[in-house]
Amino acid sequence: MLKVIIILTSIYTSLAQANVSFSHRSLQLAADHYELNYDINIEKRTLAASGIITVINTSSKDANHIPLRLYRLLKVSKLLDMKGNELAFTQQVLSNEDWPVLQTNYIEIELDTPIKPNQFFKFEIKFDGSLRGYSETGMNYVKDNISKDFSIIRMDALAYPLVTYPNDKVNKKAKFWLNTYDYDVTISVPEELVVANGGKLLSHHINNHKSVYRYVNKLPAWRMDFAIANYQLYSKGNYAVFSWESKESSQKLLEQIVLTFDLYSKWFGPLQKDLGYTFIEVPKNYGAQADVTAVIQDAQGFKELDRVYHEISHQWNVKSLDTHSPRWNEGLATFLEELTLDKFGKSGHLHVQTEKNLARLKKLFKDNPLYSKTAFIDYGENGLNSYTVGMVFFRLLYDLVGENKFNALIGGFYKDYYASGATAEQFVQYIKKYADVNLERFFDEWAYTSTYSKRLMEFKSYAELYKFYQSTTLNELLTKAAIK
Ligand SMILES: [Zn+2]
Repeated sequence: MLKVIIILTSIYTSLAQANVSFSHRSLQLAADHYELNYDINIEKRTLAASGIITVINTSSKDANHIPLRLYRLLKVSKLLDMKGNELAFTQQVLSNEDWPVLQTNYIEIELDTPIKPNQFFKFEIKFDGSLRGYSETGMNYVKDNISKDFSIIRMDALAYPLVTYPNDKVNKKAKFWLNTYDYDVTISVPEELVVANGGKLLSHHINNHKSVYRYVNKLPAWRMDFAIANYQLYSKGNYAVFSWESKESSQKLLEQIVLTFDLYSKWFGPLQKDLGYTFIEVPKNYGAQADVTAVIQDAQGFKELDRVYHEISHQWNVKSLDTHSPRWNEGLATFLEELTLDKFGKSGHLHVQTEKNLARLKKLFKDNPLYSKTAFIDYGENGLNSYTVGMVFFRLLYDLVGENKFNALIGGFYKDYYASGATAEQFVQYIKKYADVNLERFFDEWAYTSTYSKRLMEFKSYAELYKFYQSTTLNELLTKAAIK
């Protein structure tokens, strides 16, 4: 029996090797749920993991296999269906077809019964091995390792199975590329170490000199990050800082996070859901990652909080219902990050930053004419970046309606549309309706046409630009009053 399995495995391996072109395939599946248990062995610098992964067929055709990629030194030892039957699979370290220096362990699970469109499939997996980073690819920040000082389990080093092919061009074509999922992950580490994650800590206990942490996501996730070190945890309510900096600077950072939530609650009203915020320190040059409920950053993050302000402000955004969102909320977050720095004592910062963005935009319009021809509302459809244009857009809106009105508009829109989500068009209509000043001209030029790019070239400074729109608002108000 054993012999048969060995022969079968080698046939599968040779078949897969003979047929390794992925460029003609299309990714049909996406991860929907990860339930994983990791055991970290610091002395041996290895990890052993097991658990259950749920995938969903997001395509319109039956899927007859499951593609998975893992870090090149992680090996799958077992794959079972939920009845406990072994699943046939192959695994081999392959170079990415579109990026040959990236080598991953490619696992392909063969299915006797295909997964139908929209159907879920659960399987059990066991894998183990080491992490040694990906510096050979040029991703110098992926120094991921297992060591006494610092270990990390994250997507960048494929420390958990990603439902993808070794061809990212193919993966990115999939409709649900980076589909969001839920996770429930338990990690056991030596007693003196701490596991940090941006999700919710469900439990923590000590067992056999091992410290066991169980985390679940707070919001649907597109990546998982678990950092392991001799952290000190500073927390207040739902806010947490995992750090090895001094108590003083860690507490200061925590206080600043609390103050930011207080400030935005004062501006925009209370959050509908209290998700909290977690700051996780990583060693220098490990890269920074930020999402709405957590940030991973090196010691620099204790001094520069712009990223933290930006992300926290996103908690007051509503879900976009646009097929191609112009992502105006990135403009809003960029504006609020500069405004917050200004309010928290860096007086004059907003002014300097606005002028810098104007200069950047003038250059951008020359370098990439698509920006000067595209209306802001169509940015998403054209794949344009809305951060800088959006920052100036919100700065103008803020000055045109005034601080109090601006806060009431952003807060009111959040409250009204939190449950349902909204389109960019609904946002514009909402602002127009409740702004108290006439913003017809402003929105015509800044949302629905590309006239804003001409205005930006026309005026030398922000003050001139603002004056222009202010006068149009006033003129229109006067005209309105005259008609009445
Ligand atoms: Zn953002």
